[in-house]
Amino acid sequence: MIGRKLSVMIQLDDRQKISFNCSAIGATAKYLEDRSRDKLERLVSMPGSRLAYNHYRWSSLGPQLPIEGFWKERLARIPYSKEFEQNITAVREYLEARNQSEWVNEVLRYLPHNHVFNTTVYLIIDHNNIVFGEDVALNLNSRQFHADHREAVYYLIHELAHAGYLRYHSERMPELASIKTLGELCAIVKFLTHLEGMGVISSLRLRTREGGLLDNDYKVLRNEAEKAKRVREYFKVLSRLENNAKQKVKQSDFEVFEKMSGRATRLWYITGCHMAQTIESTFGLNTLRQLVEKGCSDFFKKYMSVEDPMRQWPLIQKQEKSCYTLPQRERR
Ligand SMILES: [Zn+2]
Repeated sequence: MIGRKLSVMIQLDDRQKISFNCSAIGATAKYLEDRSRDKLERLVSMPGSRLAYNHYRWSSLGPQLPIEGFWKERLARIPYSKEFEQNITAVREYLEARNQSEWVNEVLRYLPHNHVFNTTVYLIIDHNNIVFGEDVALNLNSRQFHADHREAVYYLIHELAHAGYLRYHSERMPELASIKTLGELCAIVKFLTHLEGMGVISSLRLRTREGGLLDNDYKVLRNEAEKAKRVREYFKVLSRLENNAKQKVKQSDFEVFEKMSGRATRLWYITGCHMAQTIESTFGLNTLRQLVEKGCSDFFKKYMSVEDPMRQWPLIQKQEKSCYTLPQRERR
């Protein structure tokens, strides 16, 4: 059955608590069968549906839909079929069958020593994979998960890395709509770069070990020239925000988020992971783990003490000197 309870409570030691909640996927499948009012009501009462909606309210810059309207709109484009149900069930069963200690250890590797999870993983249909507070939601209707079931585990690691990170920084998640200046926008971009960078690096080892590199971010990270291009682009965007920190934010400035997270550029994922990799290879894993607790300012300082992509770029000089060395006039 599609929404059968995934009765997993992971207890790696007596302290770690990561539980799964599948109630929203069963309720969503039922709603999709006839899209009736009472099934919608049941769907929006599920805790996974509420978590996804709270995340939407946090990240939404414009007028916000009520929860019923939000889910109705989200699910309007999904036709119900047997194949759809089979795809969802296959991912859920794969998640259930995987060795849990394997993926939990990958997440704990990049969190401060003695990190303790107290997290619920909500399995949902048709919303992004998200973190909200210390809980996460995984979208089992992801085409990427259907193409390679291992992607669900890799993204579980990614989202749990966020849940872990937020234990130390929950006060840093302001409403995006409350941003008033470019300086405030810059601060949140740096915060989310650290958060996403740690998310991306956390599944890298397991992906590499298993050859699970379907995700485009990892293709870019393995292509030194393309990675360098994205990192430079990221720091150009960041410099503009930093150099005009006092300026009032305009609606068009929020396009920064599209550059940072949009499919075509993925700037904070690529750059955040590159920064984390640079810190790990220069100062060691423990330093990188400690920075999760210290926060993004220290993360940026540590990275900048090794390389500053707007001034020098050791990475590129090794590889593609003629193409990517900065023009003379840009050097300071
Ligand atoms: Zn993420």
